[in-house]
Amino acid sequence: MKKKSITLIIGITIILLSFLTYIFILGKLFPYSPIIIGFTKYESPNTIIYIQKGNTSANYNWVDSLIPSVEKFHELKFNSKPKIFFFRDKKTYSHRSLSKARFCAFTNGNIVVSPWAQKEAEEGKISMEIYLKHELSHSIILQNKGILAGLKYPKWLLEGIATYSVNQMGTSFYPGKEETYTLIKQGNFMPPYYFHTKKEAQIKLNVKYIPPFMYSEFACIVDYLIETRGRDKFLVYMKSLLKEDNHNKVFKEVYGIDFDEFILNFKKFVENNNG
Ligand SMILES: [Zn+2]
Repeated sequence: MKKKSITLIIGITIILLSFLTYIFILGKLFPYSPIIIGFTKYESPNTIIYIQKGNTSANYNWVDSLIPSVEKFHELKFNSKPKIFFFRDKKTYSHRSLSKARFCAFTNGNIVVSPWAQKEAEEGKISMEIYLKHELSHSIILQNKGILAGLKYPKWLLEGIATYSVNQMGTSFYPGKEETYTLIKQGNFMPPYYFHTKKEAQIKLNVKYIPPFMYSEFACIVDYLIETRGRDKFLVYMKSLLKEDNHNKVFKEVYGIDFDEFILNFKKFVENNNG
């Protein structure tokens, strides 16, 4: 009986270890894996770049120089060098990433870059520098928030900060500030707290590219906060949310106004804007 239970425990452990090995090294949790297979590693002072074997077009040694400006904007430091993975093919990317997006930043600060994003950058459709700095904004906030707690940072604010911090409005698919104001005046508005929830489907947006419009809208909210109440206060708000999860409480403490009321004020401001 005793021997039987030991055999059972060993059996379960082997299955569990095989599963974990698979899911981290070859599966969806690859960006969290301590062991990286199939990529060439290039370690620089601020980043670790991994290029998938066979990805011949990738030359990304310039990426390391983006870090100081990301740290400066957020007035934060990376806790560890972010790892950036440049994938070669769609199949591996879909197997080893939780994301179907062009780029994705994970809560440990690591970033994956799809093969089609690299192609679009080569063709001049997107700027690799702007997109990577956008992801590095997520990366520095998520690293400072914590690997599990990172999931609780307000998603609309992450996107608003990233889009604002790299002046992404008006580039590629992202409407510029005035264009975003016009689209809002036409009745398009995603309530920030609906973003990435089931409620998002309740809102109809009559815009050309929906996610870029939402990101520009959130960047306009960040811009409005900074323009009307200052950058220092904004940094206090952004950083308080690294320690505290209750967004509306933090907002009220920092700005002395309910978030819902502030959003109504922002919409009124946009309505009256004739720029
Ligand atoms: Zn983003």
